[in-house]
Amino acid sequence: MKVPFVDLGRQHRRLSGELRWAIDGVIERGDFVLGEELERFEQEFAAFCGARHAVGVDSGVSALELALRALGVGPGDEVVTVANTFIATVSAIAFTGARPTLVDIQPDTLQMDVTQLERAITPRTRAIIPVHLYGCPADVEAVAKVAAAYNLAVIEDACQAHGARVGGRRVGSLGTAAAFSFYPSKNLGAFGDGGMCVTNSAELAHRMKILRVHGAEPEDIHKVVGGNFRLDALQAAILRVKLRHLDDWSAARRRNADLYERKIRALGLPESVLSTPAARESRHVFNQYVLRTPDRDGAVAALAGRGIGTEIYYPLPLHLQPCFANLGHGPGSFPAAERAARETFAVPIYPELTEAEIDLVVGALAAHFETKAHVA
Ligand SMILES: *Cc1c(COP(=O)(O)O)cnc(C)c1O
Repeated sequence: MKVPFVDLGRQHRRLSGELRWAIDGVIERGDFVLGEELERFEQEFAAFCGARHAVGVDSGVSALELALRALGVGPGDEVVTVANTFIATVSAIAFTGARPTLVDIQPDTLQMDVTQLERAITPRTRAIIPVHLYGCPADVEAVAKVAAAYNLAVIEDACQAHGARVGGRRVGSLGTAAAFSFYPSKNLGAFGDGGMCVTNSAELAHRMKILRVHGAEPEDIHKVVGGNFRLDALQAAILRVKLRHLDDWSAARRRNADLYERKIRALGLPESVLSTPAARESRHVFNQYVLRTPDRDGAVAALAGRGIGTEIYYPLPLHLQPCFANLGHGPGSFPAAERAARETFAVPIYPELTEAEIDLVVGALAAHFETKAHVA
């Protein structure tokens, strides 16, 4: 028996009827770009986040870029984010012409170390991008306090955290704007690429909508240079079907995370293997379930030997990526991010994962640690 790292087929087979019906509807109506289907999805997604406006775009990185551009961020500006995130968080900043400024993560939670923010802020800083990494809400309240003191925008990178909550509020409604991705393996995934920008500001949403369609306002008049950042009607129709199931899927991801945690403890595996759970008042939606151990590569190989898929998010921190060598941060600049890159790995966590499969993963880990104890 194998346990694949992701298996989207399980979800799609269950929704096959609903999805086909939605796709057929778009084919019949024939409005493939923007239009009613997208508007409905935008309204539903904004409501889901508890925010006023949502602007459908073609990817998560476009959502980040459009949010920055709508805020007027560009060459000469700086935007602060973390060294341990997906490359898109940082490349969206660089794409606007602004300079990314990085801070380290907290070694235990792997989320932005907010105590480092003030040191990273200069007179050129315009915005902070906290990342809800793995589906765990970052401490946006603390970020917002710093942002308010320096008059900065807060753009949540919520690409891994659809539906996560802090207190009673969903991510996406906590800052100036937020970016979501609908890449197939995200908690809400399209049949291809997609993304969404969410904001409470009518003005920002308006600017994003103009930038999304070649800067046109009205049609054929272009006061700003825009691009093509549109989300297809087909993807919107598919995502509308899936959005109705998202809260159930998040609950299933949390149930799987609880099972992992209980079984890892019950088998007496090192406590340090567990990634730190979210603060009690926040609701983690586990896009990834991340474990850590100094012999990460050994653990990954042991799981692979038993047919269990794993992934590493992320093996090389952003400041050590060749394309960001110009930022001038060498090895040792962000020790917590570098350590996470050496020690962490993700195991399967999708909603349809069975308890028997979780037992296989935990059993393989137990065998790995036993062998190591034996050799030591
Ligand atoms: C997936 C992801 C993105 C970008 O999403 P795309 O849709 O692939 O462009 C940005 N930030 C984070 C943290 C992500 O996980």
